[in-house]
Amino acid sequence: MFDTDTISRFQQIETPFYYYDLGLLRQTLEACKTASDKYGFHVHYAMKANFNPKVLEAVQSYGFGADCVSGNEVTTAIANGFDKSKVVFAGVGKSDKEINIALDADIFCFNVESVQELNIINDLAKAKNKTARVAIRINPNVDAHTHHFITTGLDENKFGINSWQLNDVAETLRSCKNLQFVGIHFHIGSQITDMEVYRSLCIRINEMQQWFEDRGFQVKVLNTGGGLGVDYHNPDTNNIPDFESYFKVFKDFLHIKPGQEVHFELGRALVAQSAALVSRVLYVKMGQKKNFLILDAGMTELIRPMLYQAYQKIENLSRKSEDRSQKSESESQISNLKCQILKYDVVGPICESTDCFQKDVELPESFRGDIFAIRTAGAYGEVMASRYNLRDAIQSVYSE
Ligand SMILES: *Cc1c(COP(=O)(O)O)cnc(C)c1O
Repeated sequence: MFDTDTISRFQQIETPFYYYDLGLLRQTLEACKTASDKYGFHVHYAMKANFNPKVLEAVQSYGFGADCVSGNEVTTAIANGFDKSKVVFAGVGKSDKEINIALDADIFCFNVESVQELNIINDLAKAKNKTARVAIRINPNVDAHTHHFITTGLDENKFGINSWQLNDVAETLRSCKNLQFVGIHFHIGSQITDMEVYRSLCIRINEMQQWFEDRGFQVKVLNTGGGLGVDYHNPDTNNIPDFESYFKVFKDFLHIKPGQEVHFELGRALVAQSAALVSRVLYVKMGQKKNFLILDAGMTELIRPMLYQAYQKIENLSRKSEDRSQKSESESQISNLKCQILKYDVVGPICESTDCFQKDVELPESFRGDIFAIRTAGAYGEVMASRYNLRDAIQSVYSE
């Protein structure tokens, strides 16, 4: 991702900024497209992961749909060229205003998260003399085996409709004349790397579609959600997720009926590896117990490490040639003669003790002005930036 030309280019640019490798982004999108096309699967991009216009432009150019979680995302998706017939709208708290935006935009479907919401969408559609297509978001009670902050498919989570409420759902669907049932929707969490979890999900989906078919509902769409994880530890050697294996699980374990569509909502897997947060060392504090590297970026630019205790690889680009992790054993012994490896807590400038990217990071001895990259920052990075402490809005730099 960072050749010497790129690193010298960074030297001329004010930090911090997000750096986007658009070539890698296209390679990732291409890999996903090829793997999903093989089975005729439909992929919607979960645009909350990153709605940077250049990212949206690239994603849209591959013909993906959009998975939105707010009215503004619906509007932005369509304004950025996504086909309205490939826009879906999920979210546990859609406001009336947002529902009306989506009704006016004639999106493909609402992923509905409660019986009350079904009734509200029906009322609002009726007022416009429209029919709203709906899929029922079911909470499958499948443990995603991911961090508890980003698991969404358990009974204790706020998302989706639990199985004991399905009779109510069926009754409501029958009585609501301005709703058209299109299928069932699931989303069990994020950063899932264990394919067994998806196999369990398939089994639940099969049970659920049978439940609806037994009651006379035709299930046209099986929407399995997103959540496929990426390798935060090896952003160079494993930079494109294994889409082939992922889609194959669904091909192998879902009971797909003739004419049925299978939909996916991938966010992180499509965009995470294509960006890094680039920052400079402002100060080095050498202590008796701890050494601190104070960067010019903090939780205001990238909050995942602080919010979810997430690991993201940290590199000193200015001393990359001295970084032991980049070299073979014998090479690193030679370079160790020149450079010392030290442990640092890498922190930001924000007035909060939680503003720490990672503790005890082994890095080549680092100095004021060194350029750092925090890797795998393309998903839930730039979009979660804030202006807390009245910081400057974060800038973006592109590979081309
Ligand atoms: C966030 C979200 C996604 C995408 O999750 P990733 O982990 O980024 O793939 C998909 N569907 C819904 C409903 C979501 O809320």
